[in-house]
Amino acid sequence: MSSVWERLEPLLERVSTPARYIGCELGSVRPPHDPANVAWLLIYPDTYEIGLPNQGLQILYEILNERPDAEAERAYTPWPDLASEMRRCGLPLFSVDTHRPAREFDVLAFTLAAELTYTNVLETLDLAGLEVRSSRRAGDDPLVLAGGHCAFNPEPMAPFVDAFVLGDGEEVVGEITEVLAAAKAEGAPREQKLRLLADISGVYVPSLYRDVWEGGRLVGVFPVVEGVPDRVEKRTIADLAEWPYPRRQLVPLTEVVHDRLNVEVFRGCTRGCRFCQAGMITRPVRERPASQVLEMVTDGLARTGHDEVALTSLSTADYSGIEGVVSEVVGCGNVTVSLPSLRVDAFTVGIASEIQRARRTGLTFAPEAGTWRLRRVINKLITNEDLFGAVEAAFSQGWRRMKLYFLVGLPTETDEDTRAIGELAAACVEIGRRYVRSPSVTVSVGGFVPKPHTPFQWFGQNTVGELRRKLSLVRDAARGRRGVEVKWHDPEATLVEGLLSRGDRRVADVIEDVWRAGGVFQEWSEYFRLDRWEAAAARHAVSIDEIVHRHRPEEEVFPWDHISAGLHRDFLWQDWRDALCEVGLPDCRWTPCYDCGACTGYGVEHVVASTTPPAGGSQGTGQDLTRGEELPASVPVRILAKASIRGGAGDREGAEG
Ligand code: SF4
Repeated sequence: MSSVWERLEPLLERVSTPARYIGCELGSVRPPHDPANVAWLLIYPDTYEIGLPNQGLQILYEILNERPDAEAERAYTPWPDLASEMRRCGLPLFSVDTHRPAREFDVLAFTLAAELTYTNVLETLDLAGLEVRSSRRAGDDPLVLAGGHCAFNPEPMAPFVDAFVLGDGEEVVGEITEVLAAAKAEGAPREQKLRLLADISGVYVPSLYRDVWEGGRLVGVFPVVEGVPDRVEKRTIADLAEWPYPRRQLVPLTEVVHDRLNVEVFRGCTRGCRFCQAGMITRPVRERPASQVLEMVTDGLARTGHDEVALTSLSTADYSGIEGVVSEVVGCGNVTVSLPSLRVDAFTVGIASEIQRARRTGLTFAPEAGTWRLRRVINKLITNEDLFGAVEAAFSQGWRRMKLYFLVGLPTETDEDTRAIGELAAACVEIGRRYVRSPSVTVSVGGFVPKPHTPFQWFGQNTVGELRRKLSLVRDAARGRRGVEVKWHDPEATLVEGLLSRGDRRVADVIEDVWRAGGVFQEWSEYFRLDRWEAAAARHAVSIDEIVHRHRPEEEVFPWDHISAGLHRDFLWQDWRDALCEVGLPDCRWTPCYDCGACTGYGVEHVVASTTPPAGGSQGTGQDLTRGEELPASVPVRILAKASIRGGAGDREGAEG
């Protein structure tokens, strides 16, 4: 077994956080290196602290290592201090598990969870000793794969990646392994391997496709070889219960972003928030059985020694019977339970009191918009009453501070909507005063980036100047309100995120230029520099304004139209029109299917334990939504669920009142 450890170890005393590079975590494996196996290096293109907790990577790490024909190790992008030492000493990128050089693997597979990590992919490839452009790589170089949410618009990264994997990875990594193991055994050349990968459902090989332009507009991305699909469909696992992973969650060696046991309780979300790409591309909802959740929690706590467990999903309070599950988890001992994604309309006194039976964690609610009108536009159908009810539930159970997350720059947003953010936060603090001393609410404001495969993909993003102006409106509205603190994300980073989210293949030149100019770790404010992106875009005649700020007409071809998340384009367009008319769409978990395409096209359906909505909740519950903006004189705490259901394709308007 080759290892660079002897050469790496002396460098570690010269770099920050050497624990990032050591490996040996509880739960990690040091697989034997069998030349007949397909060796995967799973790479998260950011620091160890951000990458280690990534559940997708940990799931694939275990699934692959359980296979007799595969072995999988991990790597993270070295921080610039180590990267420069590695270049100085000629030390290549290595796995953290056995410190094996990256070039000795058959596959380098990147998780693309955030667009601003793209330049780190190039940095990591370069440190591995590979050409960053796939067309220049040698026949025996590892194949470069990428998956994750950002793969749903692969085009800006198309020249750097040999194959993208779309959707759930649990099944498809096995199919890729089988194909590559056979190809390796017969010594197939690189081109043949790629052609074989393109036959696997869910795999997009960009070199087999070409972008065609006419008069400055994209005509489409089309296959250039016979037999590959015109449109590449995502993969969806039908039943999460068949995949109880990770079974051996990694216990980090140093502090990481989510340092706790994470158990995924369901995948997908059908609430239909129009800004939310994750909700759209991960449909339908697939709940894990409660018994399996409890088993994973109990085993995981015993094995890892964690005393905090997060029940993860896109909207955990929507999980059927969540109160019972939380109650049983709390019964496991001195455990803190966190529910990182909470819909305010599903957060009840019951959940609040169950969580606080253990220890209180931070609470974050995401109303997203300041007014009920704008929340109807974005289909986040929570009323002010819902929010105040959740806030009251939390304060009444002893919480003293919470965080509210909002977006600015949403379609149709007015200054009144923006100012209302500060007023809502102040009203929440007022509710808190009835129960606790010095309640506080932190308002976290992000700039909205329209994402592919959402109804807002046609919308032109706000400029940096406009986002800054809106942030000042929020700050002004919150000024002088005791207990309200405002935090915000850098609008310049939001601009680049917009460029990378909806860019086309030409944007690859910009990404490479920025990386060559030293632009790594763009998610980190100390390394982010907008001027590099602007200079690179100008050099390649890529108009940031046109890609980011321009509203698109209905018929415009998108760079991701050859990639399918299942959603019908006409469904998304209708939903965009509905948004502009402030018409909401109910959650299809509890109303008839309106044929968005996510289930019907793949022969899958929702897997939910309950046919009734969770306690509270405005969507499909028959509540009177005409009163969404009202601020009740005394805020009632909701305990009872309303079980009546309405809505469906023919009842869009009626459902939202
Ligand atoms: S296909 Fe129907 S049931 Fe499935 S996510 Fe779309 S609307 Fe919901």
